[in-house]
Amino acid sequence: MAIAPASQRIRKILAALERAYPDAACSLAFHNPLELLVATILSAQCTDVLVNKVTPELFKKYRTARDYARSDLAELERDVARVNFYRNKAKSIKAACQLIEERFGGKVPNRMDDLVQLPGVARKTANVVLGNAFDVQEGIVVDTHVMRLSQRMGLSRQTDRDKIEQDLMALIPRAQWTRFGHQMITHGRKVCAAKKPACAQCPLTSALCPSRQA
Ligand code: SF4
Repeated sequence: MAIAPASQRIRKILAALERAYPDAACSLAFHNPLELLVATILSAQCTDVLVNKVTPELFKKYRTARDYARSDLAELERDVARVNFYRNKAKSIKAACQLIEERFGGKVPNRMDDLVQLPGVARKTANVVLGNAFDVQEGIVVDTHVMRLSQRMGLSRQTDRDKIEQDLMALIPRAQWTRFGHQMITHGRKVCAAKKPACAQCPLTSALCPSRQA
């Protein structure tokens, strides 16, 4: 039997994810927009668990955008050296904070157009910051889990991150964009793994997921 279009399945998919992951939330530790911005830049191609081990000391030492902007780059590199690509990430953090100082009065901006001007900040990072630090639903975070699961669930046929995001934004009520991202990431980590999805433990029936293996 052919599966229904995504637009007819999405309400039940969202309900199933909500039941399975009612507490899904951002797994990066932060207390303010600047901390989340820095943590998100550090988290590229690195686990949130490792980032959360590095940031407590970092956030104690660098408390404002000015602290990062005026930091010695070699010292900042040493302070984040446990994460991969730490040299590039330290450079991005310093440069982003210099721009925040110069153009945004030392405060992390809360608009997409402004955020994506910052070095090291693309739409995905901006979505994380907007959705979690400002509660602004501007888009949906499409990371590797959300990409894979959107395709498996038949919510998008696209392979490009931005096009997948557009498909999801058309399907999902705006108020749920950030929450949906967290639930999909949690589902990707716990059940619908890249190598072998654990369909037997998945709340999505074969009427909801075209990739379900009996
Ligand atoms: S049914 Fe299987 S493939 Fe579909 S979302 Fe669940 S775990 Fe993934």
